[in-house]
Amino acid sequence: MSNQCPNAEVWCELGCGQVFPRLERQKHSLECGKQSVVCDFCKIWITKDELTAHQQSICQEYTVTCDYCRMKQLRRGDVSVYNCTYKICTYKITPYTVHVKNNTIIIIITLIMFSTL
Ligand SMILES: [Zn+2]
Ligand SMILES: [Zn+2]
Ligand SMILES: [Zn+2]
Repeated sequence: MSNQCPNAEVWCELGCGQVFPRLERQKHSLECGKQSVVCDFCKIWITKDELTAHQQSICQEYTVTCDYCRMKQLRRGDVSVYNCTYKICTYKITPYTVHVKNNTIIIIITLIMFSTL
């Protein structure tokens, strides 16, 4: 009888290390970090607590933004082969907005030069 008590504390069956009253088992299984979930990008099964790290650095199907132009959306697996035109730019480590700013400055300088002729 005593082990059927809804308030008896039980360990998580999935092994996350949490202890909770038996009646919260259902609720816990939804938020448990050891729960298996599918990565939306590459469709592998992975535990919920590893999903973020997987998508941030491992998943080859995950969509990332090109480091050079900050506009092009790429599969992570394609980043190394994608030949972005901004790769040759000397401002390559600065974000796209700086490219725009510099272009604007160049245009302004050009206009000033022409207007003084
Ligand atoms: Zn758990
Ligand atoms: Zn993935
Ligand atoms: Zn790019």
